[in-house]
Amino acid sequence: MVFKKDSKPLDSEQEKSQNEDASALELKNLENKKEIESQPLEVSKGNDNENGFLDFGFNQSILNSLRNKGYKNPTPIQKAAIPELMLGRDLLGQAQTGTGKTAAFALPLIEKLADNKELNAKVLVMTPTRELATQVAESFKSYSSESSNFKTVAIYGGTDYRNQISALKRKVDVVVGTPGRIMDHIRQGTFKIKNINCLVLDEADEMLNMGFLEDIEWIIDQLPENKQMVLFSATMPSEIRNIAKKYLNDPAEILIKSVKKETQLISQKFLYVQRHHKLDALKRILELNNQGVIIFVRTKLLTTSIAEALENSGHSVAVLNGDIPQNQRENTVDRLKKGFINILVATDVAARGLDVERIKLVINYDFPFDKETYTHRIGRTGRAGRAGEAILFVNHRERHFLRNLENSTRTKIEEINIPSNTIINEKRMEKLIENVNKSSFAQDKNEENKALIIDVLDNLKEKYSMNDSNIAMAAINLVIGNKSFFVNEDDSWIHKQNNTERNRSNRNNNNRMRNSNRRNNYQNDSFETYKFNFGKFDGVRVANIISSICNSTNINGRSIGKIQIFNDYSLVDLPRDLHRETKNKLKKIKVRN
Ligand code: AMP
Repeated sequence: MVFKKDSKPLDSEQEKSQNEDASALELKNLENKKEIESQPLEVSKGNDNENGFLDFGFNQSILNSLRNKGYKNPTPIQKAAIPELMLGRDLLGQAQTGTGKTAAFALPLIEKLADNKELNAKVLVMTPTRELATQVAESFKSYSSESSNFKTVAIYGGTDYRNQISALKRKVDVVVGTPGRIMDHIRQGTFKIKNINCLVLDEADEMLNMGFLEDIEWIIDQLPENKQMVLFSATMPSEIRNIAKKYLNDPAEILIKSVKKETQLISQKFLYVQRHHKLDALKRILELNNQGVIIFVRTKLLTTSIAEALENSGHSVAVLNGDIPQNQRENTVDRLKKGFINILVATDVAARGLDVERIKLVINYDFPFDKETYTHRIGRTGRAGRAGEAILFVNHRERHFLRNLENSTRTKIEEINIPSNTIINEKRMEKLIENVNKSSFAQDKNEENKALIIDVLDNLKEKYSMNDSNIAMAAINLVIGNKSFFVNEDDSWIHKQNNTERNRSNRNNNNRMRNSNRRNNYQNDSFETYKFNFGKFDGVRVANIISSICNSTNINGRSIGKIQIFNDYSLVDLPRDLHRETKNKLKKIKVRN
């Protein structure tokens, strides 16, 4: 077990104790156990007229805030836990993030504090990390946004004490915090705990992994004896069962079997890449998807160097690691949520509990240490029932880790190829066409701009005698800019590497190589290479070659393969078995006259 406190640099964690497998657990000693199949949260949204929260007896302010959040129906864990907590029972819940567990404990506690007039906090929620503390506090705030004078305060390490102390001096209903900072405030007398009548331990297994057991027990011992206790944990190792036995009083027990369901929404893939090609492979993956991406790397140093490299390639990117001050981390997450940045490069610990809906893709740039880390990483996408994608980078030495990972998560991880120039160029072309098309719709909406555009068109026609097609071409040229539009770097390493890995796999008689995974970017057999006697010295660019071939023959741009431009000649991969007439036309094509 790693002993780690709030005050230590979080990234020093290089190992993690293995949690017991949730599915293998038998919680024999605890009664009233309810096992519930979770389902994607979107399923629970229901139709517009329904309100599945009415039956719990919540006050109107809570119902209003739920309506504002767009929640229509409770999730399975909410259905099971809310009635028990409203009755004041202790509760032991085995559930992961993404199941709606925060609202499951927050809503009944807010309801019970509806008329609270007292100054000192009545509820304490303990979380393993600052990130989770902020997130849980934000949830309390949003669920109580319509309740008057309801106050939630978050206290965690890495930030100034002064704001926390002054917040704790005013009226507080709920305190959410990390163990180290909670202890500090209790010791200093700045957190008055005599009114606490409910304690929630959230992600208890994570707190144990981080070495907080003693601290938790110390805090529990300071709190008033008579209190409701709620313990949530993703897994149930024996230490957690012991805590439950020691401190919980006849708890209702709920097990949400959600691990599979949650990860099923995420399409899990891997690609083979040698260490020295990783950054290039990353950039190529980001060509296909760079909106809402989190990249996991092993060290803080790597987060910054990769972020720098991506920034240089024009991506909007930020770093999340243990060295970044807390307020800056919060700011970064906020900017990601709002779409001001698209890519995060993070270490595992810094990204713990991150819940940002728009993350569509998780890239495991470095292989995760264990199954739990992998499951947590990929769980940053596919939030609240949405689909997501996870890509794992594997070098040939890590191949057996991959098999282990597949076995322990009981998931097949599908192989994909690193996108070749052809795939990337097709994507760029697609995007360009899409953008031009979108912009034609945008024009209709803005009358002022429309008038301006018509004016410009008239001017161009009258003054320069340009026709419609000349103008369209010039406008598209303007969008493309001066930089080379298509990638033209040597990508032969991708094909070579795929071949090497495939041969390795075959030699090992490993039948994982499914034909369906051979992506169409690996189609060398269906191409023939043509040599044209124009090249860089003639000022030729890839775009010129594609447009000349498409304009002079019936060859479709999408079916043109690799294009390599040398000083005085160019090599172009074209579909095998072209018609003789097409070949004749190819002989005569001109590029830039
Ligand atoms: P949690 O498991 O508490 O981290 O919640 C995961 C996500 O589900 C959060 O983004 C919540 O806002 C969302 N959520 C929680 N309860 C509901 C609900 N009943 N309906 C729709 N979304 C929900």
